[in-house]
Amino acid sequence: MRLLVVEDDPDLKRQLVTALGEAGYAVDSATDGEEGHFLGDTEPYDAVVLDLGLPKRDGLSVLEEWRRAGHKFPVLILTARDRWNEKVSGMDAGADDYLTKPFNMEELLARLRALVRRSAGHASSEIECGQLRLDTKSARVTYDGSPIKLTSHEYRLMAYLMHHKDKVVSRTELVEHMYDQDFDRDSNTIEVFIGRLRKKIPVDMIRTIRGLGYCLSKGEDAG
Ligand code: CA
Repeated sequence: MRLLVVEDDPDLKRQLVTALGEAGYAVDSATDGEEGHFLGDTEPYDAVVLDLGLPKRDGLSVLEEWRRAGHKFPVLILTARDRWNEKVSGMDAGADDYLTKPFNMEELLARLRALVRRSAGHASSEIECGQLRLDTKSARVTYDGSPIKLTSHEYRLMAYLMHHKDKVVSRTELVEHMYDQDFDRDSNTIEVFIGRLRKKIPVDMIRTIRGLGYCLSKGEDAG
């Protein structure tokens, strides 16, 4: 899962990028409204954290333009404490949730998990696929109750596949949602990671759909 953070306060931006990275997301960030708008317009994010008071271009107009352009990614806006009307205009402009500064990082993480999950069509914080289970809260994956050890990149891949289980996802899509923009991307590495995941769960759960990509499903043998 890949997120965008648009925040001009350098300390807060750093805290957000660090916390989200530790929570298992690939994270891009921007410090002003123009750069933020450009990234959201050109990269496929799973969710965006958008400050409203930004240099060069305010967050509200950025959000409105994204929505006009048809971008559907969930957006959580950050608003100043004394500006209740910002929340209203933000939600009207197409925000999905808001937090008032200063906020608690745990709360932000929980809200983002919910946004990412719901936009992929999952209501519960645990996503199941046969015996395979992803606990989005603890970022843990188990099979038949036993924990599966995953590296951070393997986890990102698994989390994306679980959020989109029973759907065919292309290699390009996986690359775009696994790595931040500064990462040296190589779609061949996806195959390597898929190979590693297949060794950790029943091999028929991740099928290769020739010419299209991969599909995670509960497999033929599993109940
Ligand atoms: Ca600001």
